Amino acid sequence: MRNIARIMGVPVDKGSLVDATNRIKELLNKDGCSQVVTPNTEIVMSAQEDKELLKVIEEADLVIPDGIGLIYASKIKKKGLTERVTGVDLMAQILNYCNEEEKSIYLFGGKPNVANMAAENILKKFPNIKIAGTQDGYYKAEDEEKIIDSINEIKPDVLFTALGAPRQEKLIYKYKNILKVKLAAGVGGSVDIWAGTAKRAPEVYQKLGLEWFYRLMKEPWRYKRMLVLPKFMIKVILTKDI
Ligand code: UDP
Repeated sequence: MRNIARIMGVPVDKGSLVDATNRIKELLNKDGCSQVVTPNTEIVMSAQEDKELLKVIEEADLVIPDGIGLIYASKIKKKGLTERVTGVDLMAQILNYCNEEEKSIYLFGGKPNVANMAAENILKKFPNIKIAGTQDGYYKAEDEEKIIDSINEIKPDVLFTALGAPRQEKLIYKYKNILKVKLAAGVGGSVDIWAGTAKRAPEVYQKLGLEWFYRLMKEPWRYKRMLVLPKFMIKVILTKDI
């Protein structure tokens, strides 16, 4: 039984990284393609307008709170989310489990060669994982179905998409009824972190809930998108029940 909190109408699974990892193990051992989504504050705000995105999250099999804003909102409105569970950390747990069970993964997204570099580094840390395939995220729209067909020929256990949110989530949703994978997760920039082309915020930022600030310093052009964070917090404070 899932234990769900609703943040502005968006369902999020309550629990820790360990709980999320246990759920992953369950999903990897069941039939069909399960979808994992990792919304942050920006995605929750987008889902207020974007009904397709809301549906994707509603129908996902695991939704982790990958944004400190969601945890603050939950604390203020007593929604029961206790800790942030990041996509980067969950991806590491999935990889660890795949290594133990000798499962296969497919990396789909990122700039040309990024997925290959990520695969190499993943193999160094998790040598029992099978890299089923890689594909960059800068393909022609008309090639999308061919890519899905080639994934289906290989039948990897796990498909990671890194095409930017919410595109990577919508792509999984669009094909999940025909995808021959056990688990599919949009992991965005995590593939860049594995490839070494991006760095995760130092632990001190993570601990202080300031990972967003580190990202803002590294990628200042994102500031417009990030203005949604204060908007979200103001909405949380001014709305009686989010
Ligand atoms: N990306 C991609 N194809 C695109 C746009 C982005 O493969 O057309 C990749 C990009 O190279 C990066 C990942 O998507 O590896 C995440 O991008 P971004 O940081 O914009 O993600 P977001 O924060 O929006 O999830």
